[in-house]
Amino acid sequence: MTLLDGKKISDQIKDEIAAEVAGMIRRGEKVPHLAAVIVGSDGASLTYVGSKVRACQRIGFESTLKQLPESTTEEELLEVVAELNADSDIDGYIVQLPLPRHIDEQKILLAVNPDKDVDGFHPTNFGKMALELESFISATPYGIMELLRRYNVETSGKHAVVIGRSNIVGRPISILLSQKGEGANATVTLVHSRTRNLPEITRQADIIVSALGVPNFLKSDMVKEGVVVVDVGITRVPDASRERGYYICGDVDFEGVSKKASFITPVPGGVGPMTIAMLLKNTLLARQRHRTRT
Ligand code: NAD
Repeated sequence: MTLLDGKKISDQIKDEIAAEVAGMIRRGEKVPHLAAVIVGSDGASLTYVGSKVRACQRIGFESTLKQLPESTTEEELLEVVAELNADSDIDGYIVQLPLPRHIDEQKILLAVNPDKDVDGFHPTNFGKMALELESFISATPYGIMELLRRYNVETSGKHAVVIGRSNIVGRPISILLSQKGEGANATVTLVHSRTRNLPEITRQADIIVSALGVPNFLKSDMVKEGVVVVDVGITRVPDASRERGYYICGDVDFEGVSKKASFITPVPGGVGPMTIAMLLKNTLLARQRHRTRT
């Protein structure tokens, strides 16, 4: 069994980006600038945004964190989005999800300028991704594809089963894996909460991408020998014995499934760090595209 080490690969990618940034600085060019907007004080969201901003600083990007109170109205957030769209110094930005219930998430995401939408959540980017046009591919599916590619995992002609159909992970990764081209060309089945006989389907899979958010959902009797497993799930499971009061658990029963898998991602240290690396990659792409346009 080979561990798909997202921490190691994400460090390589960050080093590659840092080298590009060093070149930009040497040439006297503007470095990429990522902004992040967070509304409220959800613990997990603050942790994610914090790691994204710290990663920017480590590789030489400029970063701006806009932390808004839980009471921020939809109008106020739309104004912040409009300011970020208009600010020529900002190459890309993200609005950390989930947003408080009184704010319509779709309305906010639609207001983001697609050229600065480094999360790739805007319909323009999602549509272009599906049509294989230049776009921003959202960071988690992009990270999964890159992780498989860097470990030379064969996908062509393989049966990939994606568990979960969310707009940010399940659906886009199912599209990317089925596309024509190197590192893709898989035959994809997407299963979800209404799927019947799910274990029968996962047992046929050569590759499983699990993105449902149910701790230890995928057990060893649901996979075949030699399967490649990518665990996207991140759930905080309460645990009073730990200092933080919880532990992070993936969708996959790692202990059992890893005994049958040929490749498997750990949680933490798998898809999570890859997501951050690909967000940085998208921000670098945004800077390069803005430069060629202006
Ligand atoms: P979501 O809640 O939007 O979607 C979950 C999907 O799982 C749904 O489509 C649902 O149909 C399916 N599902 C739920 N229960 C099921 C069941 N019993 N059987 C089959 N399918 C079932 O979730 P999401 O935003 O895609 O996130 C999924 C998980 O991935 C979460 O744990 C989230 O925290 C994690 N996540 C991790 C990263 C990362 O960077 N590693 C990024 C995004 C999301």
